[in-house]
Order: sequence, then C-alpha cells, then structure tokens
Amino acid sequence: MLSVVIPAYNERENINAAVREIGAAASLCDDYELIFVDDGSDDGTWEEISQLSAQDPHIRGLRFSRNFGKESAIFAGLKEAEGDAVAVMDCDLQHPPKLLGEMYAAWRDGAEVVEAVKATRGKESFIYRLFAKFFYSVMKKSSGMDLDRTSDYKLLDRKVADALNELPERQTFFRALSGWVGFRSERIEFDVAPRNAGKSKWSFSKLFKYAISSITGFTDLPMHIITWSGLLFFVFAVILGINTLVNFCAGNAADGFTTVILLLLIIGGILMLGIGIIGYYISKIYEEIKCRPRYIVSQRVGVKGKEKTR
Ligand code: UDP
Ligand code: MG
Repeated sequence: MLSVVIPAYNERENINAAVREIGAAASLCDDYELIFVDDGSDDGTWEEISQLSAQDPHIRGLRFSRNFGKESAIFAGLKEAEGDAVAVMDCDLQHPPKLLGEMYAAWRDGAEVVEAVKATRGKESFIYRLFAKFFYSVMKKSSGMDLDRTSDYKLLDRKVADALNELPERQTFFRALSGWVGFRSERIEFDVAPRNAGKSKWSFSKLFKYAISSITGFTDLPMHIITWSGLLFFVFAVILGINTLVNFCAGNAADGFTTVILLLLIIGGILMLGIGIIGYYISKIYEEIKCRPRYIVSQRVGVKGKEKTR
C-alpha cells in the first residue's frame, strides 16, 4: 500500500482538488490511503476533510488541537501511515501529483528514499531567492548536506519512515533528516507548479526562524566560530598590549579615549553576540528536555487499513 501524507493549514479551497488529483495519481500505483493532517486550520479545512472521508474510504484525517507547524504535521502523518511506501506532499498541488507514479516506480526498483528536487525554483521574489541561496550554502558548509533545490516532496520506504518515527527530537527538519537517516536514495527533478488556490502560509519571519532553527539543529559551528574569534582577539590583545606598554615606557602613552571606546564597543559587541549564540543553543536544549509532545491530536476521521480488514 502507498500512503500519502498531506499537511494542510487553512487549505479549504485546495482539499477537493488535492483529493481528486493526488487520489488519481496514487490509485495508478497501488492500494493507497491519503492522510490529511489538519494543522489547526480555522477556515473549515477540517469539515472539508471529514466530509470527503465519509464518502471515500481511502481518505483519513487527523486534526491538531492548534497550529503546530508543517514539520509536526509531516511527522504526525508519518506515524499514522500504514503503507509500505509513504509519500509526503503539499496540499496546494505545487508538488505535481503526476510525479508520484515515477517516484513509486523508482521505489519499486529499489530506491528507499525518492527525493523530488526542484529543476527550477518557480516564481519567487529576488530577496527570497537570495536568502534561500544563503541558507543552503550555510547548511552545506556547516553540515556537509547539499539541500539546494530539495523539497519536502519525498517518497520513503517503510524502513525509512520507521527510522524517522524513532527519532526522539522535537525540533525536526524533515528535508534534511530524511537524508541524515541514510538509505539508498534517488533524485527526480520536477518543476514547481504555481499554488492551486490561496496564499503561502509561510511569512518571512516564520521562514527566518525555521532557517535558524534548522542550521542550529544540524551543526554547532556557530559556537566554534565564537571560540575561534575569541582566540583571534586574544592574539590581537597581546600585540596591542605589548605595543601599548612599549609606548608607555618610552614616555609617549596613547592618549585620548578613541582607542578605549572603539575597543569597548567591538569587544562588547562580540561578547553579546557570543552569549546570544550560546543562549540560542541553550534554549534549544530547554525545548528538548521539556519533552512536550510535538503535536496534540484532537480529532480523527477515516478507518485505518488494518482495522478495515478486521
Ligand atoms: N502548512 C502546514 N502548517 C503550517 C504552514 C504550512 O501544514 O504552519 C502546509 C500547507 O498547508 C501546505 C504546505 O505546508 O500544504 C506548504 O505550505 P505553503 O504552500 O504555504 O508553503 P510554500 O509552498 O509557499 O513554501
Ligand atoms: Mg506551497
């Protein structure tokens, strides 16, 4: 069986089309189930999902008690999926359902992770593109993972889904973790389609936070940078110290406050930045050790495959 996990946040206008198009593509592959994860929508997305689920036994739905974010929705879906292969795709049809057949065939041929990568990035603003480039180059330099052009559109073998389900961490980055777990992977290119209906749910600030959290989730390089800049400043301090002392002994001590003010500002700035970076990692540790659930499910619709056969 093929499970398709579809996170949906305020996508009422898209559910119908998603069921039609993704269902049609999945039915060509095998027996299938569509698992919609309603990430705390308030626009009637859930009503739409439950209505369609009542008509079609292939459709199941989970409803979160509030908006927990796309990552949580993906992982909730992975946990719920019962298929031998599990696909994850967006609800707005930006991930072309037609590709599903090709991905499924690649899985049948032995690939355990089939990644759909963007041939082109679709319509995006210049600033957005610039930030994305910067983010991916930082990710690549710091963690060695080349995520440029990757997307959340993936098809995973049961083994991979199980491996992801076993990860204990709360702050996840699906796009990178599906590579981190290993396994045999294959890439298939696709062109990003325009959104079917509605607007993107990612504001700039949400994306920025997601980017920072993803970088710190995969590397501690920022903390090493603090150590190295500390070392650099120490060398600088020794040289400046000797220079100042020699000048003092020679009777021409540096006068004026300019040097002092500059040093205070530079050192103060670097110290604050360093504390901030360490503080960020501590807050991540704090988030993890609280051990709160990644999401809370408030409602379910549809019958699981296993229960159906009972
Ligand atoms: N999404 C979600 N929770 C959120 C934000 C988005 O489940 O908090 C879902 C959304 O419904 C869609 C997918 O994640 O199915 C991708 O979101 P969107 O299309 O807004 O992002 P973009 O394509 O602009 O990156
Ligand atoms: Mg989209």
